[in-house]
Amino acid sequence: MIIRGEPMPELPDVEAVIDRIKGDVVGEIFKGVEIFIPDPIQLPPWPEFKERLVGAKILDIWRRGKFILFPLSNGFTFIVHLRMTGNLIYCHPQQEIHKHTRVVFTFENGRQLRFTDQRKLGKMYLVPDEDFSGIKALYTMGPEPLSEDFTLDVFNKLLRKRKGRIKSLVMDQRFIAGIGNVYGDVILWQAKIHPQRCVGELSSAEIRGLFHSIKEVLHESVRNYYSIHERPDWFLMGRREGICPRCASPLDAVKIQGRYSHFCPRCQPG
Ligand SMILES: [Zn+2]
Repeated sequence: MIIRGEPMPELPDVEAVIDRIKGDVVGEIFKGVEIFIPDPIQLPPWPEFKERLVGAKILDIWRRGKFILFPLSNGFTFIVHLRMTGNLIYCHPQQEIHKHTRVVFTFENGRQLRFTDQRKLGKMYLVPDEDFSGIKALYTMGPEPLSEDFTLDVFNKLLRKRKGRIKSLVMDQRFIAGIGNVYGDVILWQAKIHPQRCVGELSSAEIRGLFHSIKEVLHESVRNYYSIHERPDWFLMGRREGICPRCASPLDAVKIQGRYSHFCPRCQPG
C-alpha cells in the first residue's frame, strides 16, 4: 500500500524548533516587526501586536502542546503555533528572504527571527502573561505527556471519563497535549493497539502499555530530534515499502478524522 499523509509538527518537532533558536533569541529585544501577510496574527489586531512587541525583551521560550511561548519583559507572552508548515528561523538580515516568509521580527542587535509558512495556517498571538482565555486550544489543553505529573494513575482517571476510538482520543489536545497523526500512529503501533479500538474496551494491561508507549516514543523522539522528513524506521508514515517494522506484514490504513491512520493488522488486531 502507499503510505499517505503530510507530516506536520507535533510535540518533538516543536521541541526541536525551540532547541534550535533558544540560545539565540532569549535575551533579544524586538526593534521592529515587518508583516508581509497579516493572516497569522490572531490577537490583538496587527497594529497593536506590532506596537506592543517593539521594545520588549524575550525572557524565555517554552512549549505547551504544539504552541511555542515567549514570555516578554512587558508582561505579555508572544505565542506561535506552527500548524502544518510554519517555521521560525533566526538569521542574519543579509540572508535571502525565503518566498514563504510571512513575518520578520528584527532585534536590536540587527539579527532577525523570520516566520515562514507555505500553507499560511500558522498563527500568532500576544496576550497578557498567563491569560490564555483568548486562545481556546491553549486554555482547554490536556496534560503534558512528558511532565512528571502525567502518571499512569492520572492517565487512567482521564481515560475513564472518555469514550470513542483510541486514535481520535490520543490526538485530542484536550485529552493529552502535543500528539498528532504521525506520533499517534507510532504510539498505538508500539502499544499493539488498533487505532479504531474503543476506549472502554481496553484492558488494564493495554492501558499500561499505551501509557508507557506515549512516554517512550515522545522521550526517544525529543532526545534524538528526528527531522520531520527523516523519521527512523519505526515510524509507520513515510515507510515507502509499507511494511510493519516489527513483523514485516503489509501495513493497512483507515481514515480517522479525515486523515489516514496507519497500522499493522497483524500486530494491532481490531
Ligand atoms: Zn506487525
